[in-house]
Amino acid sequence: MNYERDNIRRLTGYVSGEQPDNPQTIKLNTNESPWPPSPMVDSVLRNVGAADLRRYPPPTADAFRDIAAGHHGLSRDHIIATRGGDELLRLVITTFVDPGQVIAMTDPTYSLYRVLAQIQNCPVAHFALDEDWQMPPDFANAANQANARLTLIVNPHAPSGRMHSKDALKDLADKLHGLLLIDEAYVDFIDPELAYDSADLVRQCPNVIILRTLSKGYALAGLRFGYGMAQPELVAPMLGKTRDSYNLDYISQKIAEAAITDQAWANNLWTKVREQRHAVTVALNAMGLPVQPSQSNFVLVTVPKGKDHAVSLYRGLKARGILVRYFDEDRLADKLRITIGTPDENQRLLTELAALLDQ
Ligand SMILES: *Cc1c(COP(=O)(O)O)cnc(C)c1O
Repeated sequence: MNYERDNIRRLTGYVSGEQPDNPQTIKLNTNESPWPPSPMVDSVLRNVGAADLRRYPPPTADAFRDIAAGHHGLSRDHIIATRGGDELLRLVITTFVDPGQVIAMTDPTYSLYRVLAQIQNCPVAHFALDEDWQMPPDFANAANQANARLTLIVNPHAPSGRMHSKDALKDLADKLHGLLLIDEAYVDFIDPELAYDSADLVRQCPNVIILRTLSKGYALAGLRFGYGMAQPELVAPMLGKTRDSYNLDYISQKIAEAAITDQAWANNLWTKVREQRHAVTVALNAMGLPVQPSQSNFVLVTVPKGKDHAVSLYRGLKARGILVRYFDEDRLADKLRITIGTPDENQRLLTELAALLDQ
């Protein structure tokens, strides 16, 4: 007897990036930070005691919401704190999309979207990005025609690292009949010269929800803390009705407050990632492995000889103690996604890749 709902029985779950047992492994496969979080996080950890866990934590993480709101020039009512960005995605879908209603997304995109849609028993409409990983020009119309209740966009895009402009997103939000979730998991790594500020979209667009996470830009993937930003009418039902009553534990809240307060530390991390991203991009291109400019903490490398060679480079690197990400999907099969590491890690990567290419 199988007691699963039909849609769950048909579902293939999300496959996480590999977490190796060997601590010597150079881990460039899951877009974690190569540098540690703020020292203020250490100090929180040193100062929590068991007695702090006797009571329930603040239910809606208001201290964190106030700091985040101040940081973005918004108010507390615009912010919801969640257990990673992933919890926000689940809340958005279960709060705003009925089973059977269509969820639109690009192809390729973050593979968790498909899984969450299927859990809610929602059909997915996929729209292919163009050659430069940009949205097709008629994307809004196509999503409307598909009757999409919710559209999911990653910006900067994963796994390409390419960026959609704020104007393109504003235009999309204005045209869509449904909600638009903009997943900004990698937003912190955008070049500051591009002056991308999504808080404007929150103020201007009543149908936009922005996803943020501390996993990437604040070096806290192990913490599981993210947040959403949207107009209060969208935040309120998630905050007051569909959220788990105590979704964020006391220690996580204290750590997240410290991390987002220490903007100087975070900014320094982002600058270092951008410098390394530039160096790695130049070096890979010079080795004959084309990389388009990325606005994220990873690069997507094309292997000119195609899929088999990409797989053999992936395996060769792994045998040499370096993990990168390989996606066996249509447009990604001849590519490797490589997280930006420390200067030493990146140098090892480039040296081993050069050796493998010479074979
Ligand atoms: C990492 C990531 C998230 C959120 O991850 P959490 O660790 O759950 O905060 C969301 N979207 C994309 C595209 C990501 O890469």
